[in-house]
Amino acid sequence: MLTYHFYPPDLSGQGISLFAFFILMFLVSSMPMVVNNTPIFLIQWVSMAVFLTFGLLAEMVMVQVGVLVLLIRLKVQKDQLFRLPLNSLLFFTVSLLSGLAYFAMGGKTGIDLIAEPRYFWVAAAYPVIHFTLNQILISVIQAALYGRRISFLEKDLIWETVTSLITFPIGLILYIFYAEVGILALLIVGVPFVSLSIILHLYYSSEKVIDYLQKASEISHKMAEHLDVNEVMDLFILKLSEMVPVDYAYILDIKDNDELHSIYRKEHELIKPNDLMPTNKNEGISGLVLETGKSVLFHSKNKWKSIAKEFLPEDAESIICVPIVRSNEILGILLLSSTKKRAYEKSQLMIVDILCSHFAIAIENARHYEETKAKSERCALTKLYNYRYIEAKLNEEFSRLHNGSRDLLSLIILDIDHFKKVNDTYGHQSGNEILCELADRLTNLIDTAGIAARYGGEEFIVLMPDTSKEDAIGWAELIRQTIANRPFILKQTIDGRSSSTKVYITASIGVAAAPEDADDSLALIRHADRALYVGAKQAGRNRVAEYVK
Ligand code: GH3
Ligand code: MG
Ligand code: MG
Repeated sequence: MLTYHFYPPDLSGQGISLFAFFILMFLVSSMPMVVNNTPIFLIQWVSMAVFLTFGLLAEMVMVQVGVLVLLIRLKVQKDQLFRLPLNSLLFFTVSLLSGLAYFAMGGKTGIDLIAEPRYFWVAAAYPVIHFTLNQILISVIQAALYGRRISFLEKDLIWETVTSLITFPIGLILYIFYAEVGILALLIVGVPFVSLSIILHLYYSSEKVIDYLQKASEISHKMAEHLDVNEVMDLFILKLSEMVPVDYAYILDIKDNDELHSIYRKEHELIKPNDLMPTNKNEGISGLVLETGKSVLFHSKNKWKSIAKEFLPEDAESIICVPIVRSNEILGILLLSSTKKRAYEKSQLMIVDILCSHFAIAIENARHYEETKAKSERCALTKLYNYRYIEAKLNEEFSRLHNGSRDLLSLIILDIDHFKKVNDTYGHQSGNEILCELADRLTNLIDTAGIAARYGGEEFIVLMPDTSKEDAIGWAELIRQTIANRPFILKQTIDGRSSSTKVYITASIGVAAAPEDADDSLALIRHADRALYVGAKQAGRNRVAEYVK
């Protein structure tokens, strides 16, 4: 109001010109360049020409509009919104003070610098004052807000000085041209400048994309080095979080019936259990992505609220949801979310998409590796661990005994009694069924108390770390009963009629323990085996025997 009172704008017949300047200001401020995360704001040259032509009020209004447009373009987050009034106030103060200084030095609005060159120095002093005041105020604000002192050689300052040195002369030229040729000046000066801004803007955008792509290839190499599915997922999400804001990350696996199950869940840097309710195809955001095979990007909760069926945290806002595709087949779904609105850009969605295809390859490799490894460790018939695996485990356990990290180790070995007869009576296939059923009974009984394995033929081993010989004998007796007390049911089809036969079998069992009976793995097995043959088989079968020296 004061500004209006003392320096009323002379707008007679200049409405169209002001509007043209306004458009120019809008264009320039809507194309900020971001260098090293610092937005560079090049509106001073327009505001300077406006000031010299139309006076203080017009300049102040125009600058405020510019600041607003800039902050909207930079997608200022809610928690940063205090920057809006702060920036407005800053620019307002700088405009007012440097304007007053200009008038105090004898400057006037709308002078013809070519006709009156003596005013040139006042006009040139104006941007210098403007720039200095701006820097001083910024340092004061930063010191007050963040409590940090600004060194005057900081990068930002150098950047601003350089851009000011370029832009203020352009402002002066714009002003002089405008005084001479009118609105045409805006085209002569404005078009090249706006074009340059656009080119630089595009340049920095593509720089950013190139940077992203480079990181993406690094990540894919890193992922390929890992052969553990969980490690690959962890690395993938960790690296993604370095590139895009991630508060919540979910990797969903597709089960047989097109149900999506969480296999990875990270919320605010913490890995959480995968106990989320599964969603169906075409249900929720992830189900939609599975159905269409297309990635989606939501800027805020309002946009996805009505679609989402899956569990999503209360404060989730921006969402990126991408199919994990390998050879045209969707292997899973990735869902990322940020608590901030407009956290993701289209270009970031593209990068996440690319990374997902690398992730799909890495995950497939890791899964393949795990499957092959599991196969090489297990018996194909009973799915129990095989001799190779138990041998390695035994050696591992003995090194623990030797280095003192383990005190006890017991071994149970069992052999089915008269199994040849079972085969002869019911056939080899039925014998196999009994082996499988026995393996199931064994694993259910032992559970986590030890490791059950098929030692060979109809012989089984149970390795029991941290178990005394006495306790192992107790377990062995339980095993004997689990086999002997309940018949094994054989389902047979003879001449198209199915019948079931009950078969009673028994087993003989030997137990030995380390360190009391043996110093190495071979001796432990040998001694348990000896107990089995001498103490159990020879003594009449269907019994448990311990090794005695
Ligand atoms: P015992 O141990 O009580 O002295 O008598 P046994 O009849 O069980 O004798 P032994 O342990 O020497 O014979 C093992 C028999 O187990 C030989 C073979 O027919 C049978 N067998 C070994 N492996 C398999 C298998 O994978 N499937 C089936 N069906 N039978 C097997
Ligand atoms: Mg045998
Ligand atoms: Mg036998």
